[in-house]
Amino acid sequence: MTEPTGLGMSKVARILMVEDDEDDYILTSDSLEQLDSYQFDIHWVTNPKVAVEKLSQEEFDICLLDFQLGAQSGLDVLRQAIKLGCMTPIIMLTGQDDDNLDKLAQDAGAVDYINKEDISTGRFARAIRYALARNEVASERLERLKAETQNRSKDRFLAHLSHELRTPLTSILGYTELLLQGEKAKESRSELNIILSNGKHLLSLLNDVLDLSKIAADKLELNPSEINLDSFIADVFYLLQINAQDKGLSLVITAPQALPERIRADSTRLRQILINLSYNAIKFTDHGQVAIKLWTEWVEQKELLFFEVADTGIGIPAERLASIFKPFEQVEDIVTRKEGGAGLGLAICTELARRMGGELSVESELGKGSRFRFAIEPGDISDVPRSELHFVKADTNQDNEHYDPLQGRVLVVDDAPDIRQLVQKICDGFGLQVVTAENGLQAVQMCNESLSLDTPFTLVLMDIHMPVLGGRQAIAQIREAGFTAPVIALTAAALKGVKRSLVDIGFSDVLHKPINKKALYQCMSMHLAAQESGEQIDEVEPHILLVEDDVDAAEVSKMLLESLGAKVTLAFTGAECLAVLQSSLPVCKILLDLHLPDTDGLSLAAQIRTISPELEIVVVSGAQIEASQLSALNISRSLLKPLNLSTLQSLID
Ligand code: ADP
Repeated sequence: MTEPTGLGMSKVARILMVEDDEDDYILTSDSLEQLDSYQFDIHWVTNPKVAVEKLSQEEFDICLLDFQLGAQSGLDVLRQAIKLGCMTPIIMLTGQDDDNLDKLAQDAGAVDYINKEDISTGRFARAIRYALARNEVASERLERLKAETQNRSKDRFLAHLSHELRTPLTSILGYTELLLQGEKAKESRSELNIILSNGKHLLSLLNDVLDLSKIAADKLELNPSEINLDSFIADVFYLLQINAQDKGLSLVITAPQALPERIRADSTRLRQILINLSYNAIKFTDHGQVAIKLWTEWVEQKELLFFEVADTGIGIPAERLASIFKPFEQVEDIVTRKEGGAGLGLAICTELARRMGGELSVESELGKGSRFRFAIEPGDISDVPRSELHFVKADTNQDNEHYDPLQGRVLVVDDAPDIRQLVQKICDGFGLQVVTAENGLQAVQMCNESLSLDTPFTLVLMDIHMPVLGGRQAIAQIREAGFTAPVIALTAAALKGVKRSLVDIGFSDVLHKPINKKALYQCMSMHLAAQESGEQIDEVEPHILLVEDDVDAAEVSKMLLESLGAKVTLAFTGAECLAVLQSSLPVCKILLDLHLPDTDGLSLAAQIRTISPELEIVVVSGAQIEASQLSALNISRSLLKPLNLSTLQSLID
């Protein structure tokens, strides 16, 4: 507020005294001076007009306003000043005791009313002290309010910035991925890969900056869930292995003791710390290995889960060990350094580890290597079974799901022995009888044979690209021979229109590689059930309704989804979205951008809930949304822009 107020520290109070009688002014000033613990900086005015001006333009800690200012009433000054937005507490001084005047003053907005006879008494001192204290509380509240408003607008700014940056990134990354899949990519593959990796780098920088600002504003939320430790570590391992191999390093993960099979933690954030530390280890190591170690240890009556990432790289000078955990700190000079990075990773990891219940620490020897270590609280693991790590990747270990047994004899056609085996194993698991073929020709022969023996296969799963006879040629011959059971194409191609073209030549459906157990089950069970009841699969496939106002982002997301075989309808506004939902088009899922021209996404989600209470809504946004806001609207999933092929694939699966 005013300078100098500082009532707590310097105890200087700025006072405006509006008084036309000099004797009264002197008397009041004297009395104020008697008040210990305050110093008064008194501004004296006699003219009512000047008083109103001062009160409306300057800030004082108190104003002492005489009731009778010549011909004019102090009440008028009071009323005008308050009308002009004066925030200064005003105490009225009067020559007579009159309850009526007291009431008039208070009604006009005065904080107190004192008879001039009381100026030398304790009553006056108390009134001044009370008004000052009240003012101090009010100004503190005002400061707090200002700070809160500033924080809120900073949050809004960051959310907006994040949205503005992520939306164009959707187009850059999405179109690059699409181009890389197409025929034309041959000549410009390396350039396209450069665009893709730079785009991804920009995205990770944006994520880091946002994380850091969330940490600074104490807004970082953790979302703990149950984690299968083995498959979690396996996923991280496979991801890192590619980078380690590229640099000719070996990557090892060890656990000297059996570990809890399940822990409770925020898997995204835990993965972020592990990957960050491991990427650094790989980045700063040219020879040798990167070793990740896990163990549990009791610390202050809690069993914590420890992680260590050790490398045989360049090491860190002792004097820099503490500073690398601070934002933007790097050992090498920013100009001469050969490695990229903004120096934010460790700062974020430190904070994440702290919030997950442990500390991030480092030991290092220059030229020999570094060893980063952190711990997390893994939830209550006292009764959780312990086992050795096996590294079974999550993709092939989705067995927590229950699958009702299926019936029938299935032919699996694929030239790659490991895929044949994998699909066979999965189908065995579903209770199906499985026969395999290595190419299209074998498949045609086996289908014909099954027809002639009057025991046709119940369903065929067929690869498209195979030697001897490919899937496209094989399906033509199989259908020509009168084989009517479902034949499902398995293809790695995720291009726009692939599904349509395969269905047009006789396939009943298309599944994309890598094979996803759940998707395979859903597809097979649907076709088997339809076949049993003699039904045709409904021709009008349910659509994904994509609500996005940015035309480029909408188009590229639509193309990506269609390349994965989905049917997509676009809506550019909230009103269009509601219109589609009220039409006869079957919609299986809504991908909802939160930033729309006519409404905000969350209010739209609430409206959607009134039309379709159970419809799956996936929120797409430029900034992270609080989990509580989503759960209130029964929204189970939110995606951060930019959307890429693999995120969209997981959505369709
Ligand atoms: P960035 O890697 O993006 O620069 P970090 O915060 O992850 O940012 O790391 C900060 C700095 O710490 C790095 O720039 C590097 O100088 C040093 N550093 C981190 N990890 C290692 C490591 N394993 N070996 C050597 N130096 C490291």
